[in-house]
Formats: sequence, structure tokens, C-alpha cells
Amino acid sequence: MNNDINILKEYYKSANKIVFFGGAGVSTASNIPDFRSEKGLYQVHSEYGVSYEVILSHTYYKYHPDIFFDFYKKHMIYKDALPNKAHLTLTKIQEEKNLIIIAQNIDGLHQKANNKNVLELHGSIHRNYCEKCGASYSLNAVINSINIIPHCHCGGTIKPDVVLYEESLNQDILEKSINAISSADLIIVAGTSLNVYPAASLIRYKNPSSKLVIINYQSTPQDEYADLIIHEDIGKTLEEMIK
Ligand SMILES: [Zn+2]
Repeated sequence: MNNDINILKEYYKSANKIVFFGGAGVSTASNIPDFRSEKGLYQVHSEYGVSYEVILSHTYYKYHPDIFFDFYKKHMIYKDALPNKAHLTLTKIQEEKNLIIIAQNIDGLHQKANNKNVLELHGSIHRNYCEKCGASYSLNAVINSINIIPHCHCGGTIKPDVVLYEESLNQDILEKSINAISSADLIIVAGTSLNVYPAASLIRYKNPSSKLVIINYQSTPQDEYADLIIHEDIGKTLEEMIK
């Protein structure tokens, strides 16, 4: 572990452009459970009788919006969650280095920690738009809607700006993410199993001379591409890295 941290420190010191690519594991220390974890999968299945991939699909949203919003409000929104050590350390890193954060999470905790240059690959619970007239709504409008399905004053459904299964990623965000990864000297992938495509395939765009570090408790299908793998807490590792 100590030796790994020393290698990471060296990578950090010599890097100018850094990409932090984070998944669910970045927010678990803020008490936002990873619903893709074994426990989460079991819970979703026993409560709804279908998998989260089905509930969080565009088709399901369209045909069963009541169940979709029930699930979404119960399992996807953690309104009072606070940034943890990982988010706060990223705030310090951005003062020293050119840092771009690519977030798979939709919780908005990077913004709460005052992180800049955040590319939200899967959108955010904090942005919501009427499907009919395009009016934008806050998270509270979705949470406090009288009916389980939030409606705009025009009658349209308010859809969270989060990327559902079957929906494509925002092209602009995707291109910016690819540019960031291909021009970075150091890419830190943290708290993600790198199983969800196309997000997982993004790291293939890395420059051959750049360093790829994976911080995750479990091994990932992309481990063979990594220069360094650390099975430790993300916040603690980042803190050590910048010491
Ligand atoms: Zn409307």
C-alpha cells in the first residue's frame, strides 16, 4: 500500500492535466448506496419484481411513469447528502492542477463541494425539464409534486435530466469527456466497476504515454490497462496523494 501511494504521488507530481473519472463508489461515503451492489439489486428486485435496468429504461418510463417515479424518488434522490472527503480533496486538487471531473453519478455532490469542470455523463437530478414546453424545474418540484408523476403547469410530464437505459449520452458531454481523457497525463478512475457502456469504454481514448490509476475495492474488467490499482478508500487515497 505505502509503495503504491508513493507511485501515485509521483504520478500526481509530474502530471499537469488530470482527469478524475468517478462512479457510484465516490458517493457511498456520503451515504448514497450503490444500487448496482448485490444488496441493492436484491432490494430492487424484491420490491418491484423487475431489475433496475428495466425500471430505469426509457420504455418503462414511458409506459409505467408512476412506478418509475416511485422508484426514482425512493432510490435515486438523496437530497440531504453532503460531499465527502473525495469531493473535498478534488476541490484542493483543482487549485494545484488542471483537473477535469467526469462523473457517472447524478447526485450533484461535485457541485456542492464547489468542484469545477464537471462533466456529468449521466445527467443530474438537479435539472428537470417539462417534456412538452421545455420549462425547467428544480429538484424540489419533482420531490414535492402532488401526484407521484410530476407535472408542469402546461400539463406535460417533468422529466429528470438523467440518462436512462436505451437513451444515448449527451453528445457534447461525451465529446468533451473524450477530449479530456485523450489529453490528460494522469487519469484516475475511482469507485466504478467499469461495467456500464459506453462510459466504461471512454478510458480506451487515453494517450499511450499517460498514466491510468484505478481506485476501487473490487477488480474491474479494465484492470489490465491500468498502471496502478489501489483497493482502498477513495477519499483517503486522494488525500494521501496530494500530501
Ligand atoms: Zn410544460
